[in-house]
Amino acid sequence: MSTLVWLALLGAALLVGLVAGRATKRIPEVTNTYPEDQIAALTQILDVLPDAAALVDATDVVVASSSNCVAMGLITTDRLGPVVLRALNREAHRTGKTVARDATISRTGDSLGNWEARLQVSPLENNLSLVLAQDLSEERRLNDVRRDFVANVSHELKTPVGALSLLAEAVQAADQDVAQARHFAARMQLEVRRLTDLITDLVELSRVQGDAPLRNSKPVPVQDIVAEAVDSMKIASEKRKIQINVAPDMNVGAIFGDEGQLITALRNLISNAINYSPEGTKVGVGVKLVGDQVEITVTDQGPGISEADQSRIFERFYRVDPARSRETGGTGLGLAIVKHVCANHGGDCSVWSRVGEGSTFTLQFPIHHSPQNQEIGGK
Ligand code: ADP
Repeated sequence: MSTLVWLALLGAALLVGLVAGRATKRIPEVTNTYPEDQIAALTQILDVLPDAAALVDATDVVVASSSNCVAMGLITTDRLGPVVLRALNREAHRTGKTVARDATISRTGDSLGNWEARLQVSPLENNLSLVLAQDLSEERRLNDVRRDFVANVSHELKTPVGALSLLAEAVQAADQDVAQARHFAARMQLEVRRLTDLITDLVELSRVQGDAPLRNSKPVPVQDIVAEAVDSMKIASEKRKIQINVAPDMNVGAIFGDEGQLITALRNLISNAINYSPEGTKVGVGVKLVGDQVEITVTDQGPGISEADQSRIFERFYRVDPARSRETGGTGLGLAIVKHVCANHGGDCSVWSRVGEGSTFTLQFPIHHSPQNQEIGGK
């Protein structure tokens, strides 16, 4: 942002320099003396700034502004609108220093509503000042998300750690009773596994949300992804007597992406299908090509998910039935990881479900066209 701000300041300085010779004492009249082409050039510069921006004089008259200033409620009839902004402009001119303040600004016109702004006014030469207004809504939203996430993680960690502490006390108290001590030790192992799963999923989530989530990209054959994911769930499915049926023809091509992430996403879906379905039911994994997209589906004969819950299950730590999820060893992060993997690969994930009938989760990814394929396709 700072480069752009300097760009604007430079533009403003250029303009101020260009018109300095024509300036008269009354500022509103000065603004009328600016050549139109210079104002147009300056408006272009202000328009490319990420913040709403305006060049104004000491009496709040606007010389040039970015095109969003009026709708955002910063300018009314060619003057600075909000009282707080006019006060800042006075202060900047009086002190000769940049001044800044956070404030709530009311939008005007079609886009009514308030927005949170960080306002900054910097005095320039020739009685002018540069006004910048940064929209803080997104920053505040991200802060809220981060705060919620930290609170959720702390809560999720507290449960197994609290259980471990109680179990350790129980082991100590049962030092004369070997059978009891063994029983508590086995439960301790279960809680340790929960903690390990949670930490593994947290690391995985932070990896797929990272700055460079697809560093190890290559064309990955769809059949390899399915074979690997199904294979890794073999023991879990046998334990619950669930048969996994895989589509006979998976040879549809490749997805360009991170093999590990793609396998993890599919494995999470198969794992849920196994964990939430009654014993002895079937899970199906299908693959098909729809236009330029590969669709991988996982279908189960489980309890199904209500429409209200369907819109929330991809959120971090959201569980339809927290007790059931805890029983199955769920971390509440599986589908959030799936969602990020899909987004990283330019794909999508969706769910169809009906309570009492079962669910179908669908992963959608663009098919990879190798240079060879493209040539053939282009002929
Ligand atoms: P968890 O680790 O709890 O399974 P997920 O993010 O994988 O977390 O899933 C979120 C919630 O969505 C689960 O707790 C469960 O309530 C519901 N869910 C996910 N997959 C299925 C499914 N195949 N059938 C029924 N409910 C499911």
